[in-house]
Amino acid sequence: MEFFPAFLKLEGRDVLIVGGGPIAVRKARLLLDAGARLEVVAPEIADFFLDAEARGELKTVQREFRDTDVVGKWLVVSATGRTEIEHRVARAAEREQVFCNAVDDIENCSYITPAIVDRDPVIVAISSAGTAPVLARRIRRQLESTLPARLGRLARIAGRWRRRVARQIDDLGSRVRFWEAFFDGPAMGAVANGDEEAVNGIIESLLAGNRTDGAGEAMLVGAGPGDPDLITLAAFNSLQSADVILHDRLVSNDVLSLARRDADFISVGKSPGCVANRQEEINALLIKLVSEGKRVCRLKGGDPFVFGRGGEEADALADAGLPYRIVPGITAAAGCAAAAGIPLTHRDDAQSVVLITGHGRDSVDRLDWPSLARDRQTLAVYMGVRRYGEIMRKLIEHGRPADTPIAIIERGTTPEQRVLRGTLGQLPMLARAHRVEPPAILIIGDVAKRGRNFGQPFDVPRGDPATLAALSATTTTLPIAGITGTRK
Ligand code: SAH
Repeated sequence: MEFFPAFLKLEGRDVLIVGGGPIAVRKARLLLDAGARLEVVAPEIADFFLDAEARGELKTVQREFRDTDVVGKWLVVSATGRTEIEHRVARAAEREQVFCNAVDDIENCSYITPAIVDRDPVIVAISSAGTAPVLARRIRRQLESTLPARLGRLARIAGRWRRRVARQIDDLGSRVRFWEAFFDGPAMGAVANGDEEAVNGIIESLLAGNRTDGAGEAMLVGAGPGDPDLITLAAFNSLQSADVILHDRLVSNDVLSLARRDADFISVGKSPGCVANRQEEINALLIKLVSEGKRVCRLKGGDPFVFGRGGEEADALADAGLPYRIVPGITAAAGCAAAAGIPLTHRDDAQSVVLITGHGRDSVDRLDWPSLARDRQTLAVYMGVRRYGEIMRKLIEHGRPADTPIAIIERGTTPEQRVLRGTLGQLPMLARAHRVEPPAILIIGDVAKRGRNFGQPFDVPRGDPATLAALSATTTTLPIAGITGTRK
């Protein structure tokens, strides 16, 4: 091992920075965070340092470096970008037995600084011993996305309890098992919910000899509209930690493939016109699994609280006295509009956006058509592909012009995305001509004319070049409207 890893306590200790430019500033910020007493030596010194000096946070010395500057320091950082100076600093530091880091100049380093993931007090440090800093940064990014943002808080709470736990459990092995049970259990979920009181309760309960590893939990998670890049970090973490993934049929395989490999997958087949699992059965299954102590990720397309019946599932869990968390997702209107380049609101075209469902005759009848037909607002219609004729008639009847722009986005954000554009008066014909199938979202309003040019193959599906070429060969343009994507 060329570099020995260690964490340094710099609080109140003298550290020298040679160089006064932007790189020196970057290094100084971290060192100040660690409480080091900084002396900055350089002929030219950035305002950052002068301001910090005025606040009494560090000392600047405006001149070239001298060998004696390193005397009495615990650490030296050389950030001048000039090799001959870095070399002199490194030599002087070596003589005085002070560790020296020359930024981006491994030859002149007796210590190097790692890429870090900061969940203070938990710090992950990554080093490639200077061989591949970009690789180290990539590893950092991966860790950033998997370590929950509130991990530090969990560690702090554990820290507050450490002595009490040690007093109560004197056998080391039992103590390790105690903390294992704590970190395996529902504590992280409670911290993620911002419920630190619950964490204290969990520790007390564990100390009283109760098991909490068997405590189940439900997470009602939004899977976004299809593109796996559009799930949140919280959704990703939930997929990675769940024992069971209870997912709607709408959830794409690409998203499901992000889940823990050994999780159980249960598809609750809710697709239009098919009542394979009634909502009550889904609620009952959810309650059963959580009661058995399972960590259940209830994965729903888009956002769980937008036409997803997540509210009913949350109520059922609450009534059963079971813990649950909500992880929001990008709802289809937001995701699909973005994928088609359509702004849902626009200063010139729409000051409001209304999300409605066209599912079922009842809900279509109950909609407030006079208000929906008003101009300067965008309608995003979920479901209801079969009701497009009725929707068109109602809106026109209540005064929305027949030439209002519309866009139908089928399987938005996925490789099979199709975007059909036209006018309100053409809506049912357009959908029939192109055999639009669910899931599709309909956007009505002046904003629907925006995005990229009509008839241009702009929503190019992603995939390998051969598939792309084959797909673009089947791209078609109707005389009445633009369509891009693949024809069925
Ligand atoms: N909770 C989901 C909506 C569930 S209702 C959300 O927030 O997005 C199901 C309807 O959502 C579908 O019928 C369709 O109208 C819309 N939808 C979901 N994913 C879609 C996608 N990838 N492309 C187009 N519409 C989609």
